[in-house]
Amino acid sequence: MLPESIAILTLLAGLLGLCIGSFLNVVIHRLPKIMERDWHAQCAELRGETPSTVNNTLGLATPRSRCPSCGHAITATENIPVLSYLLLRGKCSGCGQAISARYPTIEILTGVCSAFAVWHFGPTAQAAAALLLLWALIALSFIDLDTQLLPDSITLPLLWLGLLVNLDHTFVTIDTAVVGAMLGYLSLWSVFWLFKLATGKEGMGFGDFKLLAALGAWLGWSMLPAIILLSSIVGAIVGMTLILARRHGSSAPMPFGPYLAAAGVIALLWGKELTAYYLGLMY
Ligand SMILES: [Zn+2]
Repeated sequence: MLPESIAILTLLAGLLGLCIGSFLNVVIHRLPKIMERDWHAQCAELRGETPSTVNNTLGLATPRSRCPSCGHAITATENIPVLSYLLLRGKCSGCGQAISARYPTIEILTGVCSAFAVWHFGPTAQAAAALLLLWALIALSFIDLDTQLLPDSITLPLLWLGLLVNLDHTFVTIDTAVVGAMLGYLSLWSVFWLFKLATGKEGMGFGDFKLLAALGAWLGWSMLPAIILLSSIVGAIVGMTLILARRHGSSAPMPFGPYLAAAGVIALLWGKELTAYYLGLMY
C-alpha cells in the first residue's frame, strides 16, 4: 500500500475514533446507571414490590444528552467531538456551567488510539478487530474508575468476540485463545482466593477475572504473564504515588481494571516484541 493511502486511512481512523469516543462517553456515563436501575427493579420484584420508574426511559441511545446542571438539551452542533467543547470554551451554552474536561479527553484518547492501531496493523482484519478491543477497553477502564465495576454486559461479549476473531487465527490460534480465556480467569481467581484466605480481604472483583479471561481470548495464554506483570507494576507505581500524595487511603479500594486494560493494549500492540525480550532475558 502507498504511504499516502496509509496516512489517509490513519487519519480516517482517528476521526472515527473521535466519534466513537463521544459515544463511549455516553456508555461510561449511562451504563452504570442502567445497571443500577435494573438491579433495583430485580430486588423490588423479589420482594414483591412494584419497581420504581426512575430512569425508566434511560437507554444508551435515548434520550438525548442534557446538561447535568440546567437540563439544556445538547444540540447536534454542540455534540461534535472535541470541536464543540473548544467552541463552547468548555461551558454549557444554557447555564455557563463548566463541562468536564474528561469528555474531550476520552474523545482524543479514543481518536489517538484508533489512529495508532490502524497505522500499526495497516489495512488488515487485525486492525478492524483491534479497534473493537480498544474501544471496549477504554469504556471498561473509565467505568471501573468511576464505579469499581466492570460490567458483564461488556466483559462477556468481549470474551466471546475474542474467540470469534481468533477462529481464523487473526491474532493467535483458536487453541491458544481458548486456553488463554480459561487461564486468564483462573489465574486471577486463584490470586483472589489466596489473598482472601491470607488477609480476609477481597483484593479484586470478579469483573477483573472476566476481563483477563477476555484478554486471554484475544491475545492467547502466552501473553498472560506479561499482562499480569505489566498491570501489577503500573498499578503498584500509581498506587504508591497516590498514597504518598495522600490522595488515596491505603485501604480504600482501587480499581484494577484500568491497569489490566492498559497492559492489554501494550500486549496487543507490542506483545511479540515483549515476549521476545523477556525470553531473551531468560536465556
Ligand atoms: Zn447547563
